[in-house]
This record gives sequence, C-alpha cells and structure tokens, in this order.
Amino acid sequence: AEPIEYEGQRQVLVTITDVTNTKELERLKQIDALKTEFIANVSHELRTPLAAIRAYVETILNSLDELNKTMLKDFMKTVFDETLHLENLVNQILDFAKIEQKTLKLEKTWFDLVELCQEVIQSMGEFAKSKQVSLEYEGPDQLIVFADRMRLRQVLMNLVSNGIKYSNPENRYKYVKIKLERLNDSVIIAVSDNGIGIPKEYQSRIFEKFFRVQSFKDYKVEGTGLGLTICKEIVELHGGKIWFESEPGKGSIFYVKLNIGE
Ligand code: ADP
Repeated sequence: AEPIEYEGQRQVLVTITDVTNTKELERLKQIDALKTEFIANVSHELRTPLAAIRAYVETILNSLDELNKTMLKDFMKTVFDETLHLENLVNQILDFAKIEQKTLKLEKTWFDLVELCQEVIQSMGEFAKSKQVSLEYEGPDQLIVFADRMRLRQVLMNLVSNGIKYSNPENRYKYVKIKLERLNDSVIIAVSDNGIGIPKEYQSRIFEKFFRVQSFKDYKVEGTGLGLTICKEIVELHGGKIWFESEPGKGSIFYVKLNIGE
C-alpha cells in the first residue's frame, strides 16, 4: 500500500478483502441449502415405505380370515421390499456419517470380482425388470482381486441402481451393463447405461454430498444425493479412482479403477 499523509503523520492504509472467506461462505451456504433439501427428501423417503408397511400390515391384521395364501404372500412381499428399502436408506445415512467422521474402514479379502458382478446383477434383477431395463455383463469368467467385497458390492449396487433409476423412459431398449477389463495389475469396472445422462452444467458436482440434478425432479426419481459420495469414498479408500463420461439424452458410463492385488 502507498503511504498516505494523515494529520502530519505518514501512515499506511491497508484494505484486505478476504476473497477466500467469501468463497468459503458461499460454499457453506450452498451445502446448507442442499442439506435442507436432503432432510426434506429423506423424510419423504422414510415416510413413503413406512406408510405402505403400515397400510399393508393393518389390512392383514383386520382381514386375516378373508385373505387367501396368495394374497397374503403378495402383501408380505410388498412389506418385505419396503423394509429393504428402509434398511438401505438408513444404511446409506449411517455410512455417510462414518465418512464424515472418517471412521469408515475396509476389510479386505481375496474374492472373485466376476462372481460379485453376477451377484449384483441377480440382486438388481427385480428392480431392473420393473423399469424394463436389461442388465448385462461383459468380461472375463474369473478375476480374483484383493478388496473389501461388501463395500465393492455396495459401489456396484449403487452404480447399477443409478443406471436403472436414471434410464430414459423414451427408449424402447434400455440397458445397464457392467464391463470388466484387466490392465496389468489393475482392473477397470465400467458401468454404462443408455439413460437420460447428466446435464453438462452439473457434471462437476455429482460426487458432492447431497447433490442431485434439479431437472430430474420431473422424473420423480427417489434418492438422497449420497450414493456417489459414498462410492467415491469407498473407491478412494481402496487407493482407486472413480470418474464418468456422460452425454445428456444418450447415457452415462461410470468407471472404477482398482488395483487387483495387495
Ligand atoms: P441419488 O440418491 O440422487 O441417486 P447419487 O449420489 O447416487 O444420488 O447421484 C447424484 C446425482 O447424479 C443423481 O441425483 C443424478 O442426478 C445423477 N446421476 C447419477 N448417476 C446417474 C446416471 N447413471 N445417469 C444419469 N444421472 C445420474
């Protein structure tokens, strides 16, 4: 700063604009707004299955004599599915809390990644069918890796379920494909879909906690905005990388690169 004359004394006037702080404040405000939206979202998501469970159980209790076995089984199936949905949601929130507290730990073992992919395709089968999405696998018959099987299963389930959730209703043929490719000491898992894709302006933000693409609200797709945040953390704890390519209206490919061995 230039010295200035003030009441006969030479003084220096310094003005500091704390740019970092202003930016940081903006960022915090943004997260806070997303968090508010998240709480509204989650409350709604918790209430919907709970209301269904309550209604079905109430019907069963009140009309036990009139219900035949098939009806009872159908009702119980719905109750079971809704319970799973609740369990997943609560687990996602708990995992997110572990990430924030930096207490998420891996338990690595040797296992066959191909078998895991088949298991994920199997588990997601019913959901995919309900949205007329075909689930596919391409890759070797066996690929043994050293990783946290349960956590990788979670990553794959999340990516595949996103592929199904954000499928394009206008497509006659809809697919989500898991592809495994071995590169020396690492493996690339690619989960691709021909869904609605991610608008370019939001692409830099989709791994952020609570972030969901606004325009997708029209599709009434349920979610917390935590799935990809959790995936990224799990992949990075493994020393791996996660990234994606997406073309709005065409589809997306999510890539996970992991070391195969210890
Ligand atoms: P959510 O619970 O909202 O699905 P995620 O963290 O899994 O949260 O994803 C964040 C956002 O990224 C989603 O809300 C969606 O807008 C976008 N997204 C994720 N995967 C896909 C995909 N395969 N196709 C299109 N958009 C996707």
